[in-house]
Amino acid sequence: MTRHAIVTGASRGIGRAIALGLAERGYDLALNDIAAQDGDLGETAAMIEALGRRCVRVLADVSQLEDCRRAVREAVEGLGHIDVLVNNAGILRLAMIEEMTPETWDQTFAVNTRGVFQMTQAVIGHMKERRYGRIVNIASLAARTGGPGQAHYSASKSAVVGFTRVSSMEFAGHGITVNAVCPGIILTEMGKNNLRDPERVAYFEKITDVHRLGQPEDVVGPVAFFASDDSAFVTGQALNVDGGIFYS
Ligand code: NAP
Repeated sequence: MTRHAIVTGASRGIGRAIALGLAERGYDLALNDIAAQDGDLGETAAMIEALGRRCVRVLADVSQLEDCRRAVREAVEGLGHIDVLVNNAGILRLAMIEEMTPETWDQTFAVNTRGVFQMTQAVIGHMKERRYGRIVNIASLAARTGGPGQAHYSASKSAVVGFTRVSSMEFAGHGITVNAVCPGIILTEMGKNNLRDPERVAYFEKITDVHRLGQPEDVVGPVAFFASDDSAFVTGQALNVDGGIFYS
Protein backbone atom coordinates (compact mmCIF):
# COMPACT_ATOMS: atom_id res chain seq x y z
CA MET A 1 0.00 0.00 0.00
CA THR A 2 1.29 3.45 -0.89
CA ARG A 3 2.04 5.59 2.15
CA HIS A 4 0.85 9.19 2.25
CA ALA A 5 2.49 12.11 4.08
CA ILE A 6 1.65 15.73 4.90
CA VAL A 7 4.66 18.03 5.11
CA THR A 8 4.15 21.56 6.46
CA GLY A 9 6.26 24.48 5.22
CA ALA A 10 7.07 22.47 2.08
CA SER A 11 7.62 25.32 -0.40
CA ARG A 12 11.39 25.51 0.13
CA GLY A 13 14.31 24.59 2.38
CA ILE A 14 14.12 21.59 4.66
CA GLY A 15 10.39 21.05 4.04
CA ARG A 16 10.86 20.81 0.27
CA ALA A 17 13.81 18.44 0.70
CA ILE A 18 11.77 16.20 3.02
CA ALA A 19 8.80 16.17 0.62
CA LEU A 20 11.06 15.23 -2.31
CA GLY A 21 12.91 12.66 -0.23
CA LEU A 22 9.66 10.97 0.78
CA ALA A 23 8.41 11.06 -2.83
CA GLU A 24 11.66 9.36 -3.93
CA ARG A 25 10.92 6.70 -1.32
CA GLY A 26 7.46 6.05 -2.80
CA TYR A 27 5.18 8.29 -0.71
CA ASP A 28 2.36 10.42 -2.12
CA LEU A 29 2.34 13.92 -0.64
CA ALA A 30 0.08 16.62 0.74
CA LEU A 31 2.17 19.78 0.61
CA ASN A 32 1.43 22.63 2.98
CA ASP A 33 2.63 26.20 3.19
CA ILE A 34 1.08 29.59 3.77
CA ALA A 35 -0.71 31.29 0.87
CA ALA A 36 2.18 33.72 0.26
CA GLN A 37 4.36 30.73 -0.71
CA ASP A 38 1.88 29.22 -3.20
CA GLY A 39 4.22 29.85 -6.16
CA ASP A 40 7.16 28.01 -4.62
CA LEU A 41 4.84 25.30 -3.34
CA GLY A 42 3.70 24.79 -6.94
CA GLU A 43 7.35 24.23 -7.89
CA THR A 44 7.72 21.60 -5.16
CA ALA A 45 4.52 19.96 -6.41
CA ALA A 46 5.83 19.87 -10.01
CA MET A 47 9.09 18.27 -8.81
CA ILE A 48 7.13 15.58 -6.97
CA GLU A 49 4.87 14.88 -9.93
CA ALA A 50 7.98 14.59 -12.11
CA LEU A 51 9.01 11.75 -9.78
CA GLY A 52 5.75 10.02 -10.65
CA ARG A 53 4.10 10.55 -7.26
CA ARG A 54 0.67 12.02 -6.55
CA CYS A 55 0.49 15.26 -4.67
CA VAL A 56 -2.07 17.78 -3.41
CA ARG A 57 -1.49 21.32 -2.14
CA VAL A 58 -3.13 22.35 1.13
CA LEU A 59 -2.53 26.04 1.82
CA ALA A 60 -2.81 26.84 5.52
CA ASP A 61 -1.23 28.92 8.25
CA VAL A 62 -0.34 26.35 10.92
CA SER A 63 -0.75 28.97 13.64
CA GLN A 64 -4.50 29.03 12.84
CA LEU A 65 -6.50 26.12 14.25
CA GLU A 66 -9.22 26.20 11.60
CA ASP A 67 -6.58 26.29 8.85
CA CYS A 68 -4.97 23.15 10.31
CA ARG A 69 -8.30 21.31 10.43
CA ARG A 70 -9.12 22.29 6.86
CA ALA A 71 -5.64 21.35 5.63
CA VAL A 72 -5.90 17.87 7.11
CA ARG A 73 -9.44 17.48 5.74
CA GLU A 74 -8.28 18.47 2.25
CA ALA A 75 -5.26 16.18 2.49
CA VAL A 76 -7.42 13.19 3.44
CA GLU A 77 -9.96 14.02 0.71
CA GLY A 78 -7.22 14.51 -1.86
CA LEU A 79 -5.13 11.43 -1.13
CA GLY A 80 -7.64 9.08 0.54
CA HIS A 81 -5.76 8.72 3.82
CA ILE A 82 -2.73 10.06 5.69
CA ASP A 83 -0.02 7.93 7.32
CA VAL A 84 2.63 10.54 8.15
CA LEU A 85 2.64 14.10 9.43
CA VAL A 86 5.90 16.04 9.25
CA ASN A 87 5.60 19.24 11.30
CA ASN A 88 8.29 21.28 9.59
CA ALA A 89 6.89 24.83 9.27
CA GLY A 90 8.78 27.24 11.48
CA ILE A 91 10.02 30.80 11.79
CA LEU A 92 13.09 32.45 13.25
CA ARG A 93 12.89 36.22 13.76
CA LEU A 94 16.12 37.13 15.57
CA ALA A 95 15.61 39.40 18.59
CA MET A 96 17.69 40.01 21.71
CA ILE A 97 15.72 39.59 24.93
CA GLU A 98 16.00 43.25 25.92
CA GLU A 99 14.49 44.41 22.63
CA MET A 100 12.03 41.56 22.06
CA THR A 101 8.34 42.43 21.90
CA PRO A 102 5.65 40.14 23.32
CA GLU A 103 4.26 39.93 19.75
CA THR A 104 7.53 38.46 18.45
CA TRP A 105 7.57 35.95 21.30
CA ASP A 106 3.91 34.99 20.73
CA GLN A 107 4.22 34.71 16.94
CA THR A 108 7.24 32.43 17.31
CA PHE A 109 5.35 30.13 19.66
CA ALA A 110 2.16 30.33 17.55
CA VAL A 111 3.94 28.90 14.50
CA ASN A 112 6.74 26.76 15.94
CA THR A 113 4.93 25.22 18.89
CA ARG A 114 1.17 25.76 18.71
CA GLY A 115 1.34 24.88 15.00
CA VAL A 116 2.80 21.48 15.90
CA PHE A 117 0.10 20.90 18.50
CA GLN A 118 -2.72 22.04 16.19
CA MET A 119 -1.63 19.92 13.21
CA THR A 120 -1.18 16.92 15.52
CA GLN A 121 -4.62 17.40 17.02
CA ALA A 122 -6.17 17.82 13.56
CA VAL A 123 -4.74 14.55 12.20
CA ILE A 124 -4.72 12.32 15.25
CA GLY A 125 -8.35 11.11 15.08
CA HIS A 126 -7.78 9.94 11.51
CA MET A 127 -4.56 8.13 12.46
CA LYS A 128 -6.19 6.49 15.49
CA GLU A 129 -9.06 5.21 13.33
CA ARG A 130 -6.52 3.62 11.00
CA ARG A 131 -4.42 2.41 13.94
CA TYR A 132 -1.32 3.69 12.18
CA GLY A 133 0.61 6.94 12.21
CA ARG A 134 4.05 8.47 12.09
CA ILE A 135 4.51 12.01 13.35
CA VAL A 136 7.88 13.68 12.89
CA ASN A 137 8.44 17.08 14.47
CA ILE A 138 11.25 19.28 13.19
CA ALA A 139 12.64 20.85 16.36
CA SER A 140 16.19 22.27 16.33
CA LEU A 141 19.58 22.06 17.92
CA ALA A 142 18.38 25.32 19.46
CA ALA A 143 16.18 23.14 21.66
CA ARG A 144 19.43 21.98 23.28
CA THR A 145 21.31 25.27 23.08
CA GLY A 146 20.43 28.35 21.06
CA GLY A 147 22.49 31.43 20.24
CA PRO A 148 22.03 35.09 21.17
CA GLY A 149 18.85 36.50 19.61
CA GLN A 150 17.16 33.09 19.69
CA ALA A 151 15.71 32.93 23.23
CA HIS A 152 12.12 32.73 21.96
CA TYR A 153 13.07 30.33 19.15
CA SER A 154 15.08 28.10 21.49
CA ALA A 155 12.22 28.03 24.02
CA SER A 156 9.68 27.24 21.28
CA LYS A 157 11.78 24.34 19.99
CA SER A 158 12.47 22.99 23.51
CA ALA A 159 8.70 22.95 23.90
CA VAL A 160 8.41 20.89 20.70
CA VAL A 161 10.75 18.27 22.21
CA GLY A 162 8.59 18.15 25.36
CA PHE A 163 5.42 17.92 23.28
CA THR A 164 6.97 15.10 21.24
CA ARG A 165 7.74 13.10 24.38
CA VAL A 166 4.23 13.41 25.83
CA SER A 167 2.44 12.83 22.51
CA SER A 168 4.45 9.64 22.08
CA MET A 169 2.99 8.42 25.39
CA GLU A 170 -0.59 9.44 24.59
CA PHE A 171 -0.65 7.78 21.14
CA ALA A 172 1.61 4.76 21.66
CA GLY A 173 -1.31 2.37 22.12
CA HIS A 174 -2.71 3.27 18.69
CA GLY A 175 0.13 2.25 16.40
CA ILE A 176 1.33 5.85 16.26
CA THR A 177 4.91 6.97 16.90
CA VAL A 178 6.03 10.53 17.50
CA ASN A 179 9.66 11.57 17.18
CA ALA A 180 11.60 14.78 16.69
CA VAL A 181 14.61 15.71 14.62
CA CYS A 182 16.89 18.51 15.82
CA PRO A 183 18.81 19.89 12.83
CA GLY A 184 22.01 21.86 13.36
CA ILE A 185 22.85 24.70 10.99
CA ILE A 186 21.26 23.99 7.62
CA LEU A 187 21.89 26.29 4.65
CA THR A 188 18.32 27.30 3.84
CA GLU A 189 16.94 30.82 3.66
CA MET A 190 16.43 30.66 7.43
CA GLY A 191 19.88 29.19 8.06
CA LYS A 192 21.60 31.80 5.88
CA ASN A 193 19.73 34.72 7.48
CA ASN A 194 20.82 33.41 10.83
CA LEU A 195 24.47 33.25 9.77
CA ARG A 196 25.44 36.26 7.64
CA ASP A 197 28.86 36.84 9.21
CA PRO A 198 31.61 34.85 7.36
CA GLU A 199 33.60 34.62 10.60
CA ARG A 200 30.69 32.88 12.30
CA VAL A 201 30.33 30.53 9.32
CA ALA A 202 34.02 29.64 9.66
CA TYR A 203 33.60 29.19 13.42
CA PHE A 204 30.66 26.80 13.02
CA GLU A 205 32.43 24.83 10.29
CA LYS A 206 35.37 24.46 12.66
CA ILE A 207 33.38 23.25 15.67
CA THR A 208 31.28 20.83 13.58
CA ASP A 209 32.91 17.38 13.50
CA VAL A 210 32.31 16.96 9.77
CA HIS A 211 33.70 20.50 9.18
CA ARG A 212 30.84 21.70 7.02
CA LEU A 213 27.39 23.17 7.51
CA GLY A 214 24.30 21.17 6.62
CA GLN A 215 22.25 21.05 3.43
CA PRO A 216 18.47 20.46 3.51
CA GLU A 217 19.06 16.95 2.10
CA ASP A 218 21.09 16.07 5.23
CA VAL A 219 17.84 16.10 7.24
CA VAL A 220 15.93 13.78 4.91
CA GLY A 221 17.29 10.35 5.89
CA PRO A 222 16.57 10.65 9.63
CA VAL A 223 13.06 12.01 8.91
CA ALA A 224 12.42 9.20 6.41
CA PHE A 225 13.47 6.65 9.04
CA PHE A 226 11.04 8.07 11.62
CA ALA A 227 8.34 8.19 8.90
CA SER A 228 8.83 4.55 7.96
CA ASP A 229 7.70 1.18 9.26
CA ASP A 230 11.33 0.51 10.26
CA SER A 231 10.97 2.84 13.25
CA ALA A 232 7.92 1.07 14.79
CA PHE A 233 9.80 0.50 18.10
CA VAL A 234 11.22 4.03 18.31
CA THR A 235 9.05 6.75 19.83
CA GLY A 236 9.39 9.87 21.95
CA GLN A 237 12.95 10.48 20.73
CA ALA A 238 14.69 13.68 19.65
CA LEU A 239 17.63 13.05 17.32
CA ASN A 240 20.34 15.64 16.69
CA VAL A 241 21.13 15.90 12.98
CA ASP A 242 23.99 18.39 13.12
CA GLY A 243 27.20 16.89 11.74
CA GLY A 244 28.51 16.60 15.31
CA ILE A 245 28.40 19.98 17.01
CA PHE A 246 29.44 19.73 20.62
CA TYR A 247 29.10 22.76 22.84
CA SER A 248 31.13 22.75 25.99
P1 NAP B 1 12.65 28.29 5.69
O1 NAP B 1 13.61 28.19 4.56
O2 NAP B 1 12.38 29.62 6.26
O3 NAP B 1 11.28 27.57 5.26
C1 NAP B 1 10.20 27.49 6.17
C2 NAP B 1 8.90 27.47 5.38
O4 NAP B 1 7.80 27.40 6.32
C3 NAP B 1 8.71 28.76 4.59
O5 NAP B 1 8.17 28.52 3.32
C4 NAP B 1 7.76 29.52 5.47
O6 NAP B 1 7.02 30.53 4.79
C5 NAP B 1 6.86 28.40 5.97
N1 NAP B 1 6.02 28.87 7.06
C6 NAP B 1 6.30 29.86 7.94
N2 NAP B 1 5.27 30.07 8.75
C7 NAP B 1 4.29 29.20 8.38
C8 NAP B 1 2.99 28.95 8.83
N3 NAP B 1 2.47 29.67 9.83
N4 NAP B 1 2.27 27.98 8.24
C9 NAP B 1 2.78 27.24 7.22
N5 NAP B 1 4.02 27.45 6.73
C10 NAP B 1 4.78 28.41 7.31
O7 NAP B 1 13.14 27.39 6.90
P2 NAP B 1 13.97 26.01 6.98
O8 NAP B 1 15.36 26.36 7.33
O9 NAP B 1 13.67 25.15 5.82
O10 NAP B 1 13.32 25.43 8.31
C11 NAP B 1 12.36 24.38 8.33
C12 NAP B 1 12.21 23.90 9.77
O11 NAP B 1 13.49 23.47 10.26
C13 NAP B 1 11.75 25.00 10.73
O12 NAP B 1 10.88 24.45 11.69
C14 NAP B 1 13.04 25.45 11.39
O13 NAP B 1 12.82 26.03 12.64
C15 NAP B 1 13.78 24.14 11.47
N6 NAP B 1 15.24 24.27 11.60
C16 NAP B 1 15.97 24.94 10.66
C17 NAP B 1 17.34 25.03 10.82
C18 NAP B 1 18.23 25.75 9.84
O14 NAP B 1 19.41 25.97 10.15
N7 NAP B 1 17.76 26.10 8.67
C19 NAP B 1 17.97 24.46 11.94
C20 NAP B 1 17.17 23.79 12.86
C21 NAP B 1 15.81 23.69 12.67
P3 NAP B 1 7.48 32.10 5.03
O15 NAP B 1 8.94 32.20 4.78
O16 NAP B 1 6.68 32.87 4.06
O17 NAP B 1 7.19 32.44 6.45
